[in-house]
Amino acid sequence: MIDEKFDAIVVGAGMAGNAAALTMAKNGMKVLQLERGEYSGSKNVQGAILYADMLEKLIPDFREDAPLERNLVEQRFWMMDDHSHTGLHYRSDDFNEERPNRYTIIRAQFDKWFSQKVREAGATVLCETTVTELVRDTSGGVVGVRTDRRDGEIHADVVVLAEGVNGLLGARAGLRERPNPAHVALAVKEMHFLPRETIEARFNLKGDEGAVIEAAGTITRGMTGMAFVYTNKECISLGIGCLIADFESAAETPYGLLERFKRHTSVAPLIEGSEVKEYSAHLIPEGGYKAIPQLYGKGWVVVGDAAQFNNAIHREGSNLAMTSGRIAAEAILKLRSQKRPMTAENLALYRRMLNESFVMKDLKKYKDMPALMHTQSQNFFLTYPQLFSKAMQGFLRIDGTPKVEKEKLALKSFVTARSRRGLFSDAFRFVRAWR
Ligand SMILES: Cc1cc2nc3c(=O)[nH]c(=O)nc-3n(C[C@H](O)[C@H](O)[C@H](O)COP(=O)(O)OP(=O)(O)OC[C@H]3O[C@@H](n4cnc5c(N)ncnc54)[C@H](O)[C@@H]3O)c2cc1C
Repeated sequence: MIDEKFDAIVVGAGMAGNAAALTMAKNGMKVLQLERGEYSGSKNVQGAILYADMLEKLIPDFREDAPLERNLVEQRFWMMDDHSHTGLHYRSDDFNEERPNRYTIIRAQFDKWFSQKVREAGATVLCETTVTELVRDTSGGVVGVRTDRRDGEIHADVVVLAEGVNGLLGARAGLRERPNPAHVALAVKEMHFLPRETIEARFNLKGDEGAVIEAAGTITRGMTGMAFVYTNKECISLGIGCLIADFESAAETPYGLLERFKRHTSVAPLIEGSEVKEYSAHLIPEGGYKAIPQLYGKGWVVVGDAAQFNNAIHREGSNLAMTSGRIAAEAILKLRSQKRPMTAENLALYRRMLNESFVMKDLKKYKDMPALMHTQSQNFFLTYPQLFSKAMQGFLRIDGTPKVEKEKLALKSFVTARSRRGLFSDAFRFVRAWR
């Protein structure tokens, strides 16, 4: 056992762990951060869009030296069937502001930079160290961790579990259950390299402007999931993910879906001639508010993906991770300043502070959406995209058919596919889950 005792141990050096370790270290706490990867970011996968506001709260001048890719000025949403997409695009020059709001990043580079900031704040960061177990006292409270290093038992007043979506450590210790397959998506991603001028010409960008595409529809073969195409300076990140529960009951594989997505007539020209240099796969927690586990106990708190903080509707995760890590650290700092011990009762402050933040408010707003999308996936991800495509094509094809008849035909195709009652019920449930 290592004799030295820390004020806090942070398990994991992803977005949540780095936010927590940085906040505690810069406020004078003695912090040890343990990361199983070779370096912070080496194990992390993300699209990736970075939400500046949440990072600014941690590192106000991050734009000076953070490895940022492109400033997002355009967002596209595509509803796809096998041969078409119906799109909603939003682009604004207002996003070309002095302090842009969203950037693309490459996590391996970004996390390394973030981790350096954690070290500069005074935390001890140990990589290539896997936490294998939590050390408990006789009352079940967490008093430290065991690692895969020799003499690997280390003690601290509080342990921040920022171990990501797998959350094996917390589950093994009985602090929460392993995620349900209906609450976790498996996503695969590729990085397609192209000269930057090619990317800019294909996406109508200049300088460091960026564009992203979020896509849903028949590309996931009726399973609950989404695909994405994000522009970086010299590569395009492209990926697709669906719920594990859906993969279990379908004859589809993640890479099969990705290959089909890449061959789609709307996607293939964007990546034509590119060189693929990186493949990765990762889980995403998508159970939403109802899947959030117990967030604190005597001597521990859980943050980020390990706490299921992911807004699948808006494709946000890293911002919830950074915010929950920061808030957990602020709650711990407050207790310390009041000389109150890290009991479960006192650490409930973390949950109360989180309830006041956008993290809980947004997840609560969409609390019924994950179940609706999962149970109605055939309708939302297969039937409706096909119907919309057919209706759009009917309206755009000028063939002498009177418009009134076109409208009747479109309506008939919806009623034939879903019945009036089915349409009403889908609309009602969707609006209710969205509120
Ligand atoms: C394909 C994909 C695309 C995404 N796109 C976006 C996006 O564009 N924007 C967005 O905001 N979010 C996105 N997300 C979600 C986002 O990546 C996560 O929400 C975010 O990374 C969560 O941060 P975290 O710190 O909780 O977990 P992670 O970033 O997963 O970090 C957990 C860390 O803990 C370490 N660890 C785990 N167990 C142990 C252990 N026992 N001992 C020591 N270390 C351990 C891991 O190695 C890892 O470094 C995406 C996710 C995926 C998979």
